[in-house]
Amino acid sequence: MRASQKRLLRLAAASDAEARLDGELWRTRCLHCRAHLELRADGEPVGATSLEHVVPQAWFGRREAAALLARVGGDPDDPRNLALACTGCNQAKGTTHDARGPGDARAAEVVTQLLERRLARWREPDAPIARAPATYTSRDSTGFAP
Ligand SMILES: [Zn+2]
Repeated sequence: MRASQKRLLRLAAASDAEARLDGELWRTRCLHCRAHLELRADGEPVGATSLEHVVPQAWFGRREAAALLARVGGDPDDPRNLALACTGCNQAKGTTHDARGPGDARAAEVVTQLLERRLARWREPDAPIARAPATYTSRDSTGFAP
C-alpha cells in the first residue's frame, strides 16, 4: 500500500473519537455497520479495514454537492471526509449511492447522514500521530514531507 494512502488511513483513525491506539493497533468501528476494525499504527489496514471518503471523490466539483463539500473544506482528503469502513460496506456505498451522483435525492440523503455520523465522531488529531513518520516521508513520491 502506498505511503500516501497509509497516511490518510492513520489520519482517519487519529481524528476518530471512537478509535483507540492499543499498542501497535488502532481499534475502532466501521462508520456504516459498526463492525470492529483494526489498523496498524503505521497505517497498514488489518483484515477488512478500508479508507472511506464520506463525500465521494467524484462528487467534488459538482454544483449539486456544494453544501456537502463546504462542510469538508472542499478537499476530498480533508480528515473530516475520511473514515474507516469495512471493505464490504465501502464497496456497497460506492456502487449504489456514490455512483448515482449528488443530483440523486436518495444518494445525497445517505451521504449527508453519513457525514453527520462522521462529524459526530470527530476529534482533533494529535499532530505527531497524523504526521507521517520520517521513514515514509523520504519515500513520498513528491519528495516533500507532507
Ligand atoms: Zn461495515
